[in-house]
Parts: sequence; C-alpha cells; structure tokens
Amino acid sequence: MTDFDDLLKANREFAAEFDLGGFDGKAHAGVAIVTCMDSRIDPLRMLGLAHGDAKIFRNPGGRVTTAALEALVLGVHLLNVDRILVIPHTRCAMAANTEAELRVKVGQSAGLDASWQPFHVIEDQRAALEEDVRKVRSHPLIPDSVKVGGFMYDVDTGLLTQYV
Ligand SMILES: [Zn+2]
Repeated sequence: MTDFDDLLKANREFAAEFDLGGFDGKAHAGVAIVTCMDSRIDPLRMLGLAHGDAKIFRNPGGRVTTAALEALVLGVHLLNVDRILVIPHTRCAMAANTEAELRVKVGQSAGLDASWQPFHVIEDQRAALEEDVRKVRSHPLIPDSVKVGGFMYDVDTGLLTQYV
C-alpha cells in the first residue's frame, strides 16, 4: 500500500500541529456554498472564510442537484446556515463541452464506450444559475429568512460577481 504514501506523510505533519480538535460541525459564519469541483476554486479563501465557517457542497459545474438540496436543508436546519451562495465559474469544462464531446473524450481515455454515461453539461450557465437559485429559494424546507444568491467566479481574476 504505497499509492497514498505522499499524502499520508503530509497528513502526519498536519496532525502533528493539529489544534482544531473538539470543534463542532456547524457553519460558524452561517454560510453554505454550492460550487464546482474545479481545482482552481478555493471556496473558503475566496470569501475570506476560515476553517469551520462554511458548509461546502461541490460537484461538476456547481449545480443544485437533489443531493445539494439535501445538504442545504440539513445546513439550514441543523448546522447554522442562513446564507447560501451558488457559485459556478468561468471556463468550466461542464459548460465548455457538449454531452457528446465529453462522452467522446471520456470514451477515448477509457478505451471503452462511454456513450451511456450522463454528465449533465450546462448549455447556458446564467440560465442554469437562475434555475438553481430558484430551486433553493422555492424549496419548502428552506425558509425565506435564508438569503440565497447566485454568483459567477472568474478563475482568472478571482472576482465573484452576483447575478441572481
Ligand atoms: Zn467547473
């Protein structure tokens, strides 16, 4: 078992200086974020937040899926969340490819047929963002007192712009 040695070594160093034990799992800044899995996004740092401040749900594209809604409902009722940010980003692969193109690329990488695999590409990011924010706002278990915003993160400037 050596596949993860470098990461486990880094973890030992992390744990040696670990001083965050005993912390609860609430969102101490009252913030929940739905954003993309993209490695150019550092959700806490880009909002000036720190460890323990926010609940973060990530997936390809930063979409408000059924699972994202489950997380948000839990966040609002059990984990102190009162502000929700939905944050897709510029140059997202999920918006830059068609479903067919992704299936071809993955199929070529896998050397197998990938035509059956859904990827849920995004045709229009702004329209998708509006739809996603509407899904959160209209959820029966997310009260109007919870503020919900839709933003776009620019991976080249680090700037966040609110659209919804
Ligand atoms: Zn993305």
